[in-house]
Amino acid sequence: MKYYAPKGLSDVLPEEMPYWHAVGDEVRSVMSSYNYSEIRTPMMEKTEVFARGVGENTDVVSKEMYTFDDKGGRSMTLRPENTASAVRAYLEHKFYGKEELSKWYYLGPMFRYEAPQKGRSRQFHQYGAEAIGSNDPALDAELITLAIDILTSLGLEDVGLKLNSIGCPSDREDYVDDLVDYLEPRKEGLCSDCQARLTTNPLRILDCKNERCQEIVKDGPVITDYLCTDCQEHFDGVKSYLNELEIDYVLEPNLVRGLDYYTKTVFEVFSEDLGAQDALVGGGRYDELVELFGGDPTPAVGFAGGIERLVLLLEELERVSGSEGGLDLYIATIDDESKQAAMKLGRELRKVGLATEMDYLEKSLQGQLGYADRYDARYTAILGPREIENDELTLRDMESGDQVKVSLDNYVEEIVEKLIG
Ligand code: AMP
Repeated sequence: MKYYAPKGLSDVLPEEMPYWHAVGDEVRSVMSSYNYSEIRTPMMEKTEVFARGVGENTDVVSKEMYTFDDKGGRSMTLRPENTASAVRAYLEHKFYGKEELSKWYYLGPMFRYEAPQKGRSRQFHQYGAEAIGSNDPALDAELITLAIDILTSLGLEDVGLKLNSIGCPSDREDYVDDLVDYLEPRKEGLCSDCQARLTTNPLRILDCKNERCQEIVKDGPVITDYLCTDCQEHFDGVKSYLNELEIDYVLEPNLVRGLDYYTKTVFEVFSEDLGAQDALVGGGRYDELVELFGGDPTPAVGFAGGIERLVLLLEELERVSGSEGGLDLYIATIDDESKQAAMKLGRELRKVGLATEMDYLEKSLQGQLGYADRYDARYTAILGPREIENDELTLRDMESGDQVKVSLDNYVEEIVEKLIG
């Protein structure tokens, strides 16, 4: 073996595909039911889109981006997330002049240079939603319910919600001043990353996974005590909609999320099935981002969910059947002439939507029947010189073993009748 996939990038094999399809189908269906339309942005952007949008001092931008110069000497980056690209597209295509509220969803690969581990890879896939153009707390609640409904529609039962508000930039400025004042004398106790964050991005210390850092942060100031009237009313609004919708949440004053663009509401959705505490979905409001990209002030809110983590969970819970499709019909052939007829027959049947397979490995009739079994074919059509001469085929029900003759004049109708009824 000479070649392997690069570290942290993996193949999705055919046997895993039913889970991926189930996720894609539910995402599309639930998103449409909430009136979100799909958008596809390029897999790479000019580096400044993410550097500015996500924030220079975030881990994503400072450590995790796949950035390179293209042949024209432009700095390009494989997208580490989709919100910055969505906002770039919103402004580039002047959606602000076309509709008051843009509701979009996306699905696709993202790239982050992270240490690969279970549920964390360098190319991973996200689905997500963005609603650009409204400050209504009902919209935050809608996105949260949308994120939860996708997971429950996939069969996850214990879906939990962590909720916080990180206010507007001026609330945060006051808070960060006090946080730094609190942490500075305790600096020695923080991990080395957090000691650096104290000057670059103090908020991120709040959700450091290191236990010592958590212990220190636990008794520090909390952001929700610093919310201005507008942010407090907004947060109260979100909570009251969630209460009305009977969605349980846990208030997590130290939940800040890793990306700089968030304002006001931030949330994470996780699954308690299997005791998994890792977030499946993360999101929040980003009221300043459109303006940061040169647009008029335009409030927005969104979320993103990781597909790999979700697929892992669904596989472990066996919530999606492990096989899909299966063959309707296998056409077994005996000689060159019947093979030619089978090619034609197969094509006709596929046109009416039947999944059909035949032999390309010169197998014996017995071998072909074994193949049909392996692919779970419901019927096998046997086509040999005798059948061709009589203008018919033998149709074998693979479960009961019953065989009937079907005329080649109207085989499509007869086979469809048998298979679809
Ligand atoms: P974020 O874009 O960082 O807010 O992440 C949103 C969701 O994407 C997370 O909750 C994960 O489910 C997923 N995710 C983020 N980074 C990775 C990664 N490196 N590998 C797999 N999934 C990821």
